[in-house]
Amino acid sequence: MDRTISLDQQLNNYETTMNQLADRYNYKAPEVAGIIPKTIYFKEEEFTLLTNTHNSELCDNPRCKEIFNYQHNLRKGLTETFYPYIPLYMDKHTNYHCGVCLGL
Ligand SMILES: [Zn+2]
Repeated sequence: MDRTISLDQQLNNYETTMNQLADRYNYKAPEVAGIIPKTIYFKEEEFTLLTNTHNSELCDNPRCKEIFNYQHNLRKGLTETFYPYIPLYMDKHTNYHCGVCLGL
């Protein structure tokens, strides 16, 4: 994502990209995951899809965290209605990456 665009625009872009990704894999929620890959290899680590709604785990990508914190601080509601349901993967070191950051 481009540093020169506003966080509001980055949030919009992230939502759009995530929604397109979800449509592509018929993904609705962690429990209704459609045909999204259950495991992904990224930087020589195996990441496994979380299969339960996740209320506290977040993508570890600093950009993703910045966008999350932006909307969280403005109480846009996505902390409750969007983030718990996005495809999130974990490796054996308990690092998390979202589907967008894994390039799905
Ligand atoms: Zn991410």
